[in-house]
Amino acid sequence: MNIHSRDLRLARLCNEALDEPMTAAEREIMIGEAAQKLEELFDVLRIDHRNDHNTRDTPRRVAKMYVEEILQGRYTAPPAITEFDNVQAYDQLLVTGPIELRSTCAHHLLPIYGAAYIGILPAAEGKIIGLSKYDRIVEHFASRLQIQEELVKQIGQYIMDVTKPRGLAVRICAVHMCKTQRGVRASRRSRMVNTYYWGEIAASAELKSEFLQECAALVLNAE
Ligand SMILES: [Zn+2]
Repeated sequence: MNIHSRDLRLARLCNEALDEPMTAAEREIMIGEAAQKLEELFDVLRIDHRNDHNTRDTPRRVAKMYVEEILQGRYTAPPAITEFDNVQAYDQLLVTGPIELRSTCAHHLLPIYGAAYIGILPAAEGKIIGLSKYDRIVEHFASRLQIQEELVKQIGQYIMDVTKPRGLAVRICAVHMCKTQRGVRASRRSRMVNTYYWGEIAASAELKSEFLQECAALVLNAE
């Protein structure tokens, strides 16, 4: 099947998933079509990929990287969440991080890399989810063309929708290579930090400050 026949699937924002996950066979077709376009791009840029040993397989390699890695969070389903009963009715703030964050900027197609921190205020009568799932959720939403302001909200909204905690906080601290590698060529130490809150954490200055203090402690421990 030709990918272009699926007009609906083309009408999504760059950091939204398609209506339905693609099958492996559909992704293989997409890789082939993208590789052809990359060959054309190389031709335009006067890169002789047919004769140059360094770039001979680069169009296909890059096409595969986009479909299977850089953008895979648009084409595959979000990670399944393993839920456990909150037997001890744990209802205090828990914070996990740093979670490795690797994404790609929607404006320049350059890497965004850094760390995410997630604070959860579980509902005593609700479910709790396996800790490693937070890493998988971050990876899923980061594997799209992103801007950091929207990424932070996508990660948090998904956790809110699926696990319904009393409160949630998501913080990202990241280097944007479109700012360090080009443009103003800022220092690689230049980062962007943003935090978004939901539910009871959003309404409580005390919980926000507890979350931020735990993040600072986790940063120190990670160094
Ligand atoms: Zn950018």
